[in-house]
Amino acid sequence: MTNRRMYELIENAPKTGKSPTIWAWPQLTEYLKTAAQPVAGPWPPHQEPRPDPTDEDLPVAVPDQNHWVKPLANAVSPYLTTAMLRGRPNHLPSMDQSVVVDEAGLLADRIARSVVRSVREHVEGALSLNMNPDAVKGAMAIRIWHRAANKSYLKTTVQTELRRAYFAGMLLAAARHGRVKGKAWLKSEGCCQKCADLHDRRLSLPSPFFVDPAGGDFAVVPHPPLHPGCLCEMEIF
Ligand SMILES: [Zn+2]
Repeated sequence: MTNRRMYELIENAPKTGKSPTIWAWPQLTEYLKTAAQPVAGPWPPHQEPRPDPTDEDLPVAVPDQNHWVKPLANAVSPYLTTAMLRGRPNHLPSMDQSVVVDEAGLLADRIARSVVRSVREHVEGALSLNMNPDAVKGAMAIRIWHRAANKSYLKTTVQTELRRAYFAGMLLAAARHGRVKGKAWLKSEGCCQKCADLHDRRLSLPSPFFVDPAGGDFAVVPHPPLHPGCLCEMEIF
């Protein structure tokens, strides 16, 4: 079985050249064209419809994330926990491991998706321009570097997600404590205007500090950080 993206690989390939091109095999290209069309349902219970390649969330490189996100998250969580406890021994006597594992899993998933999406966009762009393979490889390496593999990007991402996990754990611990009345946002030095506007806002534990009407994964903000690189704090009372 082939899929739609396989035809896209050859769709814009040059039709002429010194040696025979993919277009020299009309039956094969016709087959790919036809086989690439989405198949209508109903789908057997063990299968899912072939995803639409124009869907923004694609591709999912590994169908079942539990195979890799959970083990990766489990591997990362002791380091996150140590880092959290080392940074703030007085704030949080007991960190909830499940929060850390979930957050670490989401972080691993987001980084992986961002890399996959970036590579996919680049390959599609390169194919449509008929770039030569060496140029594509070089440009792709640079792109991956900018989007995911460089120290400052990873540092900001890990720091942001570590803080997100920390404050999520703090809220959970506060809710379990039973006697905590609420929470307050504390702006960081030199923060952005959006964060400054939240300063000293005092809310009940479940209320969000901010809700982005545009939606998205981080639209509801129940605790810092508000954005990547945000260094704001939260206090409970
Ligand atoms: Zn902030």
